[in-house]
Amino acid sequence: MESKLRFDLHTHTIYSHGKGDIEDNWVAAKAAGLETLGISDHGPGHIGFGLDPKKIPEMKMKARAMAMRAGHEGGPNVLIGVEANIINPDGQLDMTPEQLEQLDFVIAGYHFGTIGKAPLKAGLMHAAGFVYSHTHLSAARQRDYNTMLVVKALENNKIRILSHPGAKADFDIPTIAKACEKSGTWMEINNRHGCLTVEGIRQAAKYDVTFIIGSDAHVPGDVGKYDEALRRAVEAGLDLKRIVNLRQE
Ligand SMILES: [Zn+2]
Ligand SMILES: [Zn+2]
Repeated sequence: MESKLRFDLHTHTIYSHGKGDIEDNWVAAKAAGLETLGISDHGPGHIGFGLDPKKIPEMKMKARAMAMRAGHEGGPNVLIGVEANIINPDGQLDMTPEQLEQLDFVIAGYHFGTIGKAPLKAGLMHAAGFVYSHTHLSAARQRDYNTMLVVKALENNKIRILSHPGAKADFDIPTIAKACEKSGTWMEINNRHGCLTVEGIRQAAKYDVTFIIGSDAHVPGDVGKYDEALRRAVEAGLDLKRIVNLRQE
């Protein structure tokens, strides 16, 4: 039996710091045989290259053009989402609920170098996170704090996918998995970052959560790539039926 990726919702374009336009990712997704392509550029909290929410209508127009093309020549449909930033201790993402409403789906993830609604506090927090993660100073405290940020974001927003859980800092995966179970959020096995790790998959699998593979492509050539993520899932002994975008043939 062979596994095949049905859809890839985690791809970046020139609307943040990806290399290709929506059309380029679509052409790559078509070549990869995907049914659906998701565009999920970084939220505006990413200084210098985050998505400009004013461009969402333009992106949706491009998605519609691709849908028309798919009607003629086949190929995937396109959904426009975002990879928003988990940043504020109050559980808010770096986009307003009104901006999020315009999108087809929401991915959220924790990244360095982002600012949110409380920039100073968030900036200090991320600086602290960076220092702690590189010195193991007060590691347990930082870990609890990071985990709390993610749990609050899951409680306060309709997050479809939590991207690369465990990447960029230290987190308590069982606590996050429990929160994902409650919110119905899919946990990503990211093909580009090593997270979820093999151990993270094992810990999360103890909860009633659904997994999804994301390529996290920043160049069109990486759209639909899933070999590394699948390798970790297999190594973790995960029942592959629990990965929502994997089809067994
Ligand atoms: Zn990310
Ligand atoms: Zn990403």
